[in-house]
Amino acid sequence: MHAGSRINRYADYLREHYGCRVRRVPVDAGFGCPNRQLAHGPGGTTAVHDGKLASGCSYCDATGSRAPILGSLSSVKEQVSGALAFLRARYSADRYLLYFQANTSTYAPVDQLRTLYDATLALGDFMGLIVSTRPDCLDKETVDLLAAYKDRGFEVWVELGLQSACDETLVRIGRGHEVVDFSDARQRLGRAGIAVAAHVIFGLPGEGLDEIMKTARFLAGLGVEGIKIHDLHYCRGTALLNEVLLGELPLWPKALHLEACSRFLELMPGTTTVMRLCSDNPPDRRALPRRQIEKASLYRELEVYMENHGTWQGRLFKEPKAIQL
Ligand code: SF4
Repeated sequence: MHAGSRINRYADYLREHYGCRVRRVPVDAGFGCPNRQLAHGPGGTTAVHDGKLASGCSYCDATGSRAPILGSLSSVKEQVSGALAFLRARYSADRYLLYFQANTSTYAPVDQLRTLYDATLALGDFMGLIVSTRPDCLDKETVDLLAAYKDRGFEVWVELGLQSACDETLVRIGRGHEVVDFSDARQRLGRAGIAVAAHVIFGLPGEGLDEIMKTARFLAGLGVEGIKIHDLHYCRGTALLNEVLLGELPLWPKALHLEACSRFLELMPGTTTVMRLCSDNPPDRRALPRRQIEKASLYRELEVYMENHGTWQGRLFKEPKAIQL
């Protein structure tokens, strides 16, 4: 953890690990998702999950969480050159990590994945490859492919959606996988030497602080290398928005999100890098609340909150007794 900080921030990790300004270049390669009906991905897919057409996670909009800085750019080449120009100008970045971000970025035959990853890595001087996906979309061939990039000298991360360690919640939000699928994928990636960043959402239907603490203990036990926290918000065109409009779901106040972040991070190891504390979906995709939480100020507020409460990331972390990786 960086001196003077109570949170192990990813920005500090990158600075210390690479010794220069490193930024991630997000790409939407047009992947589909096995958890919903999209037929235009590199997999040439129609989403059938467990023999049924799947309608997707109830909070996910049609963009599949495409990065806002990509705007309406379509080709991968355009996206990479646009993002590189933006990141150079805005952050004076020195080096870059390639990040397949939108939808399920392993949802294609492994030969197509290799061709796509290779071609996109060749578009810039990338030091790492980051792939965002679901735990049930990582077969052995795909894990072997990702491990091969590590052997070629790239830092390889998989961003793996969990959202909650409560199976009842996963059913309710239509995730289409179980908690055990996440631990299985994490263990197989760990054995291949690939770092995992887990995605979680605070404020999911039926969940309060108890369920969030359960998720923290689960992830702490698995020893994930990174964590991305999202505050639940309701995007246009999502099933979850219908539920909130019917008055069936509450909105989480920011103060509760802050408390949840603090209590979650107390339980996580101090070595887990914190890559995100809130979502950055822009106002045009949000129905409720319209305003996003300002990321940088949330980090500052959390530092103050944790200082005032005499706590820090890892304070309540207990070393797991027997985790087999
Ligand atoms: S959140 Fe991810 S897994 Fe769920 S429907 Fe959207 S792209 Fe698919």
